Amino acid sequence: MNIAHKIDDCYGCGVCVIACPKDIIGMKRSTEGFYVPTITEPTRCIDCSLCEKVCSYLDDIKRLEPENIKGYAAYSKDARVRRKCTSGGVGFEIAKLLINKGYKACGVEYNYHENRAEHFVARTISEFKKSMGSKYIQSFTTPGFCRLTANDKWVVFGTPCQVDSLRKWLRIKGVENNYVLVDFFCHGVPSYLLWDSYLNAKKEEFHFDNIDNVNFRDKRNGWHSYTITIKSGNREKASSLKENDLFHRFFLSNLCLNKACYQSCKFKEHQSSADIRIGDFWGETYAENEEGISGVLANTEKGLQIIDELKTACVVKEEPAHIVGEGQMKGPLLLPQRRRYVMKNLQRYTPLKYLFFKIRLLNKVDSIFHKLIALAKW
Ligand SMILES: Cc1cc2nc3c(=O)[nH]c(=O)nc-3n(C[C@H](O)[C@H](O)[C@H](O)COP(=O)(O)OP(=O)(O)OC[C@H]3O[C@@H](n4cnc5c(N)ncnc54)[C@H](O)[C@@H]3O)c2cc1C
Repeated sequence: MNIAHKIDDCYGCGVCVIACPKDIIGMKRSTEGFYVPTITEPTRCIDCSLCEKVCSYLDDIKRLEPENIKGYAAYSKDARVRRKCTSGGVGFEIAKLLINKGYKACGVEYNYHENRAEHFVARTISEFKKSMGSKYIQSFTTPGFCRLTANDKWVVFGTPCQVDSLRKWLRIKGVENNYVLVDFFCHGVPSYLLWDSYLNAKKEEFHFDNIDNVNFRDKRNGWHSYTITIKSGNREKASSLKENDLFHRFFLSNLCLNKACYQSCKFKEHQSSADIRIGDFWGETYAENEEGISGVLANTEKGLQIIDELKTACVVKEEPAHIVGEGQMKGPLLLPQRRRYVMKNLQRYTPLKYLFFKIRLLNKVDSIFHKLIALAKW
């Protein structure tokens, strides 16, 4: 038994790749633009089922009781860290604290050759700077996860599904105590078909030969602005959600997320296998803030202790867990009717501008149609 029968539809966390004792699982991009595992040499499979045992997609998560979770609002006291990171820079400060204690850190960087997000390993704080800022695309985990070891101390950052599978793997190996796991409130990951199409359009529009820097949530227009900046040499272009930035429009409209990020996502709100969950502190409490505040949940004793120690580097204020999660999704998303249409168009390289226009038009037609039906019933 192996995950072969599941590979068309899973989270793509890649933990099965490191769990396989025969080294016969790799990750490839699906036709929908998501990383999925593939059995490279099926005849060498020894039916150990380890790939299934670590798979978060195949398992049910234990529900965390909200009363056992401690909530906080927090941000880094270092203004540069806070500015570079997506919310309050707490993720980076957690890594910094632990690296100073001899931990290695595994987080996500942007690979400019492949134009993708990738897990990587850092031994120093300076090396970990590449992790600053959320990359709102699915991370290819293999480069980082393959380097995780049993003996060293580690802090690992990832989406809730990546962290959940990793926790299962660490339990099987009996090395859970050496690890601190950090996840975040997760909206879901959009398709690489969207990201590739967006980047190509930007390159063409601004005559960029190559991309040297991408910031998915630049704070120049404020924390709430969802501004994306792309740099090529000394030229830089920024566009925000308000200006109809097409990457954020498609990402936040949920029209091209990974299939597993809809009804199959078990990790909304407080559901987590991490020691610490971080996120943007959305909702009423800090609605006026434009510098960024992280919402933080300590799920375990280990997490609590780390948050306590974080008070030297961060401003930390206790907040009820339900307030920390106030602006977050409360349950799994419904698969939108138009997802198939959008994915098909992305596969056909329909220009994003045109696709956006078509979707708007279709939505208008839908709304007129519903109004007419309501009128007829009345
Ligand atoms: C795909 C995605 C969806 C998200 N959805 C939400 C949401 O719905 N609500 C919410 O409040 N917050 C969400 N976040 C988290 C949010 O963007 C911030 O990461 C969080 O607020 C912590 O910010 P920070 O300032 O502490 O650190 P940041 O500098 O933003 O970094 C936090 C950590 O995230 C890791 N990371 C970056 N990109 C990825 C990636 N693609 N995959 C896995 N790990 C990554 C980095 O290694 C880093 O250590 C999402 C993040 C991602 C990547």
